[in-house]
Amino acid sequence: KKLGIALVGLGGYSGGQLAPALQQTKHCYLAGIVTGTPSKADEWSKKYNIPDKNIYNYSNFDEIAKNPAIDIVYVVLPVSMHKEFTIRAAKAGKHVICEKPMALNAADCTEMIAACKKANRMLSIGYRLHFEPHNMEMMRLGQKKVYGKVTAIDTGNGFVYRGDPNAWRLKKALSGGGALMDMGVYSIQGTRYTLGQNPLFVTATEQKTNNELFKEVDETIMWEFEFPGGLKTTGKSSYNNNWGYLKATAEKGQFSLEPAFGYGGIKGTTHEGIMNFPQINQQAAQMDDFALCVLNKKQTRVPGEEGLKDMKVIDAIYRSIVSGKKEKIV
Ligand code: NAD
Repeated sequence: KKLGIALVGLGGYSGGQLAPALQQTKHCYLAGIVTGTPSKADEWSKKYNIPDKNIYNYSNFDEIAKNPAIDIVYVVLPVSMHKEFTIRAAKAGKHVICEKPMALNAADCTEMIAACKKANRMLSIGYRLHFEPHNMEMMRLGQKKVYGKVTAIDTGNGFVYRGDPNAWRLKKALSGGGALMDMGVYSIQGTRYTLGQNPLFVTATEQKTNNELFKEVDETIMWEFEFPGGLKTTGKSSYNNNWGYLKATAEKGQFSLEPAFGYGGIKGTTHEGIMNFPQINQQAAQMDDFALCVLNKKQTRVPGEEGLKDMKVIDAIYRSIVSGKKEKIV
């Protein structure tokens, strides 16, 4: 059986990546849509052959509870709306995939996890790189200590923002923050999954060159994590630098990715040479894996708890910027 997925929010990521990926998936398909824009409903229903009975808007969304064609709701909205729609979906009896960053803060993540547990539904975060072969190789090399213990990690993710100055990503109430929330979360993830450990403390600083565009949100942030045992790693996020790398040094070698976090074109190298892995459709792999988890009642490798861990780190980074001190990640 192929499970039916309904995408909530038909913006850039749904239209550009998820809907095309759902044409390639084997265990799930694009069954429904939830949109506040009637013209998009028309366009999508024609393009993807979606019946009217599987089309909802934000107000009648809860009626999805009565629709057996929808098994999974995929929340692809501005960050401030993730919590509401995840909880409404779970209450409607649907399994949920929620996009990154999971929510505005860790407290909201905790509520989302609790709501899905209470409804006995599975919750997953759109962490596509857990299914990407080069990133999976970073996990293997680091976690299995293939080149010995990891002694350093440096990572950065960002791009030069030239988009709409009025976009939700630049409004704190909608995004919760700037490049750290949007791009930095990949570097935090990359550090955590290369080590297979969670940082205990963070010290962070912020740089801002464009106070007009980034009036409400962070432009560039640099951080240092402290892990159990004392290892320190560095990372940074930016809306004003084109970064996208994940570099690890171990006792007996190096391994790194650059570009590390894109939808494709990932390149990996170790001190032994180039990593030889295929580029895959990450979103198709991610959604198929979740569909199989639901079908086989198996835990997903990227549950809500993974999103919560990153949000705890992000909360502590913002606290450190305000306090100017090292902060405990709690
Ligand atoms: P987008 O701006 O292109 O789309 C957002 C959608 O939400 C639009 O369809 C918009 O109409 C709708 N919306 C509903 N209420 C809104 C409001 N009050 N303000 C603005 N838009 C509103 O954004 P996107 O790039 O598609 O991002 C959506 C989510 O997907 C975000 O959480 C983002 O972080 C995530 N994302 C993830 C990846 C990934 O690789 N995993 C990539 C891109 C985006």
